[in-house]
Amino acid sequence: MIVSLTECRSYDYAQVKESIIESINNLGGIDKYINKGETVLLKLNLLMKKRPEEATTTHPMFVKALAEILIEYGTKVVIGDSPGGPFNEKMLKGLYKYCGIEEVANEVGAELNYNTNTLDVKNEKGIILKSMEVAEMIKNVDKIISVSKLKTHGMMLFTGAVKNMFGIIPGLHKAEYHFKMPHIEDFSQALLDISLYADPVLSFMDGIVGMEGAGPSAGEPRDIGVVLASTSPSHLDVVATTIVNIDPLKVPTILRAVERKIIKGNLDDIELVGDSIDKFKINDFKAPNIRSVHFIKDNEPSLIRSLSNKLLQPKPVFNHAECIGCRDCANNCPAKVIEMVNKKPVVNLEGCIRCFCCQELCPEKAIDIHRPILMKLLSKL
Ligand code: SF4
Ligand code: SF4
Repeated sequence: MIVSLTECRSYDYAQVKESIIESINNLGGIDKYINKGETVLLKLNLLMKKRPEEATTTHPMFVKALAEILIEYGTKVVIGDSPGGPFNEKMLKGLYKYCGIEEVANEVGAELNYNTNTLDVKNEKGIILKSMEVAEMIKNVDKIISVSKLKTHGMMLFTGAVKNMFGIIPGLHKAEYHFKMPHIEDFSQALLDISLYADPVLSFMDGIVGMEGAGPSAGEPRDIGVVLASTSPSHLDVVATTIVNIDPLKVPTILRAVERKIIKGNLDDIELVGDSIDKFKINDFKAPNIRSVHFIKDNEPSLIRSLSNKLLQPKPVFNHAECIGCRDCANNCPAKVIEMVNKKPVVNLEGCIRCFCCQELCPEKAIDIHRPILMKLLSKL
C-alpha cells in the first residue's frame, strides 16, 4: 500500500496547495480516484469550536487548497462533519464559522453540509456494527475524502484517519456508542467497522501542525511539517504514528486492523513515496499521559470492579476555577454521571466509563485526567 509524505512547514496557502498536489501525484493523479462531474464530501475533523491555530481541527488552509484542487479538476465539493453533541444547523453554522471553514468554503465555492438527516444502513464489513445509523450527507455524494488531523487521543492514544470516520455517526449517537462499548477493544473494533463502511476513496492527514500531549482538544500544537495521503486509512495511521514515535501496535484501531489482516502494523506492507520519513520523525512527541484500561471483566463482582476503578483507572478531574458552567461535559457524558451543582460539574466515578468525552469536548480545558498512583507504578513495570 502506498502512503505519500510531502513536506510542508507552514499554512502558507501556496505551499499547502503545492504539497497536496504533490501528494495526489504521488498516488497516481486525481483522475485515478475521482471522475469529473462527481460530488465529493470532504470529511474533516471539526471536533469542536476551536481556532485553527489551536490544532484541534483540520486547518482551513488545508481544506481550501484541497477543495480548490478538486473544483479546478471538475468536481462539486461538499464539506462536512458531525462532531459530538447535537447535530443541527445552528451548531454546524457556529462550528464552520469559528473553525475558519465557512470563509474558505465561500472563497473557493465549496458547499457546507447542513443536512442533518440520518439513515439506517447495513454494514457488511462490520464485525461489531453490522448495522448503524449514519449521517445522510455521506449518501448524497459520489465519493468521500477523509481529511483528518494528526493528534493524540486520551482514550485511543492516537486519532487519525480511521477515527476520523467516527464523524459519520450523527452527533449524540456517538455517546451511545461509547456507552454501549465501554471497553477499548470493542470500541476500536466499532471504529474500524465505521471506517470500512465509509470507505473513503482517499485519506489525507493534516500533519503540518499536529497536537501532542492531552489530545484531541486539550493538548499543545506541535510542528511536524508533513502532509500524509493514502487510499488506506489504516496504513496512513501506521505511518503517522511512526513519525511521532508512537508504537503503532499500541493504538487500538491499528491493532484491530492487524488482527483483521488489513495491515501488518509496521512499515513492511507500506511503500513510502515522496519525501523521506526521516525528515519528519519526532522522538520526543508527547503522548497523552493517560489511557483507560480494563483489567476487570464486566461479570466480576461489583466490589472488585469498584476497587479496580479506584485503584487502576484514570479519572476525569474537574477544575472548577477554569469551568464556565457551559454544561457541555454533562450534556455529552454517555454514562450520564456528571451532575451540575451550583453550575459546576460533579462526577459520580462509580458509573464513569472512562471514555474522556468530557475532556475532549470541554471548551475551557477545565478537565484533567489523573492517573492513580498504583496505575503509574504498574505502567513502569
Ligand atoms: S465542559 Fe468544561 S467548562 Fe463546560 S461545564 Fe464542563 S468542565 Fe465546565
Ligand atoms: S465522566 Fe467523562 S469520562 Fe466519565 S463517562 Fe462521563 S464523559 Fe466519559
